[in-house]
Amino acid sequence: MGARRPAPLCQVPEIQVPYLNTFQSLWEYRKSFLAGQIDFDSRIGPTCPLCGHLQCYRKVTPYWRYAIELFPEWRKERIPVARFLCRNRQRTFSLLPVQLIPYFQYTVGAVLGTLLLGWGYWQKGQGGFWGASVEVDPESLITPWLVAFWLAAVLRGLRRGHAVLGRFYDLRGISTSKKAVLWEEAAGYFQALRLKAERGGDPWMQPVRHYSQATRQFLFGIPSQQRAPNHP
Ligand SMILES: [Zn+2]
Repeated sequence: MGARRPAPLCQVPEIQVPYLNTFQSLWEYRKSFLAGQIDFDSRIGPTCPLCGHLQCYRKVTPYWRYAIELFPEWRKERIPVARFLCRNRQRTFSLLPVQLIPYFQYTVGAVLGTLLLGWGYWQKGQGGFWGASVEVDPESLITPWLVAFWLAAVLRGLRRGHAVLGRFYDLRGISTSKKAVLWEEAAGYFQALRLKAERGGDPWMQPVRHYSQATRQFLFGIPSQQRAPNHP
């Protein structure tokens, strides 16, 4: 019907931008961040990512959020996230390290590592969800339900990123159209992306880095700007 009224400023979601980096872990990122060694301005560049104008954005107070790692060991810490204000649009944006998934406490490595364990169980003829949930650190409180949720979320991201990832990996053997078993489809991706359970840690980040570099988007998860009703 009529035009939507613009949302009040406080309800406008913050834009989440992937922060591409080469830190081997989030804890290294955290250390550099706190030491003031990260030059976010040169990463963003001179033009504002929201409005495209020069000399527009300025740094504002960072926010803190929890991050949980599972490999090589369970670790839960608060992580600072850099925030900026686009002065033209009066909107803020944050630079979320690519090791994190928007709205997930568990890191990309934790999620992929758990799914790789699950895949191993599935190959042995077991369900996968339960096997993965018992193998990770008991403190992590991973449930079979959570593993199933992660599998669906990761597959959603991989399907969405299929064309872009296909520039870096041979994905021809993966069919996204037929009604395949989820683990089967995931296994196709894991093999094509060369993700192996025993490698662990940073090597699992390579597909995410390729994707975020090519698109400036997150491979997994849904950032705030795509969640709000005014920004479909
Ligand atoms: Zn701006």
